Amino acid sequence: EKCVVAVDGPSGSGKSTVSRRLASALDGVYLDTGAMYRAVTWSVLQAGVDLTDPDAITKIALETELSIGTDPLAPHFAANGTNVDEPIRGSEVTGAVSAVAAVPAVRKQLVALQKAIIAGHPRIVVEGRDIASVVAPNADLKVYLTASAAARAARRSAEDATDVAATEASLARRDKLDSSRATDPLRVASDAVEVDTTGMGIDEVVAFLLKLLNS
Ligand code: C5P
Repeated sequence: EKCVVAVDGPSGSGKSTVSRRLASALDGVYLDTGAMYRAVTWSVLQAGVDLTDPDAITKIALETELSIGTDPLAPHFAANGTNVDEPIRGSEVTGAVSAVAAVPAVRKQLVALQKAIIAGHPRIVVEGRDIASVVAPNADLKVYLTASAAARAARRSAEDATDVAATEASLARRDKLDSSRATDPLRVASDAVEVDTTGMGIDEVVAFLLKLLNS
């Protein structure tokens, strides 16, 4: 039986960890749509194009050949044949990704790809910003994860060993860009279940979502 779970929310809300764990528990696959925007951004930076030029960004995006891993235990990504697992998490890509993701033609291209991947898998957990509203409006479960700004910054800086204050500022900047862009901004879908993970452990969140799916 087909099972699609949409997990949206801001960075540091626990989306990736929770989505991967849930995909494993369902014996399904995992799609990290943020990593797709990041991989295209890596390619755009490699090409050295002007980040304020949407046409130039679109051209590179369309030319970039993406390899998208969906194994929840090892979701590897490549762009034009180069493994990009490390650089797509770096500060250069993180600083530029919201600008690239705001280009409508880039979104159109990646959303089409995301829909095709979802269609090709019986059980899939998809994480991002616009999954419930745009990519998988018919998902069996739609979850919106949140956490306090402090908790989100603490989690991210524990992951990448950067300063908490700097991380909090960078998250706030990206949230603002992601929720204010004209095309498919980050927002809570009307039929999504909102889960505040601030005081919750990963096991607790995953168990709660499994319960929702089975009810
Ligand atoms: O989730 P992650 O932090 O890796 O996402 C990186 C960026 O990609 C976000 O800040 C946002 O600009 C963009 N994004 C998006 N739509 C998605 C997933 C990510 O615009 N579905």
